[in-house]
Amino acid sequence: MSAPLIAVGGVNRTWDGSDRTGVNAAYAKSVLAAGGVPLILSPLLGSSHAARALAGVDGVLFTGGEDVHPAWYHAEPSPHLFPPSRERDLFELALFAAARQMELPILGICRGIQLINVAMGGTLYQDIPAEYPTAIDHNPTAERHHRTHAVRLEAGSRAEVALGSAPLTVNSFHHQAIRDLAKGLIATGWTEDGLIEAVETVPGTPWLLAVQWHPEEMFGEANAPDGGLFRALVKEASRRESESVDSSAPRDPAGFDRVSGHQGTAAGRSPR
Ligand code: MN
Repeated sequence: MSAPLIAVGGVNRTWDGSDRTGVNAAYAKSVLAAGGVPLILSPLLGSSHAARALAGVDGVLFTGGEDVHPAWYHAEPSPHLFPPSRERDLFELALFAAARQMELPILGICRGIQLINVAMGGTLYQDIPAEYPTAIDHNPTAERHHRTHAVRLEAGSRAEVALGSAPLTVNSFHHQAIRDLAKGLIATGWTEDGLIEAVETVPGTPWLLAVQWHPEEMFGEANAPDGGLFRALVKEASRRESESVDSSAPRDPAGFDRVSGHQGTAAGRSPR
């Protein structure tokens, strides 16, 4: 069995005077540390190439970044909204739809949990301090790997299995959060103020886990529980990768390619 390919949603940025596209290195390091092969997907691909870009991919990671445009959840932009990226919204919504159709396992981080909730029909608080004044500070001035607030996990949930049952404190730098949870998702992690910090899909549907904090920033911490999230994604992706190889056996080798093999596998397998 080869190491599974994990697509990682990227960003467009300008620095040193040039337009660039890529991801924070922490995401790639965390996927590599978990035994996966990170494959960075640029928003420049656009919605038309999103599904094609997933050919041969075994799992998908949706990363942090810009606010999702509130039009996607039928709300007017708040004056506290941070600048959204239409290009990234369009790409990632298409990528998410394609990944779900292919029944790929999905991990979401920060913007990722928000994008997933919106893509599945949920809504967001556009700015926590303005719309949820009883919240604790979710965007303190702190280093990116600094753990600043506790998260309570549902016993027996995917999140708890991945992160362990010991008391958990996480880093936090977000000003938005899930408001109305999408149908098809269940909340499995919360801060003491009641905001959702972890979600997963209901049993019997393709595997998905998402968190509001930044586990990738803990890659430098020996035995950080957060690494368990990436290992959980890679484990699910490995299962898919080995199933895909198995499913190729009865097919005509001359007519087999990896793309059609994956789609055939997804269509022919019962949900899990
Ligand atoms: Mn938080």
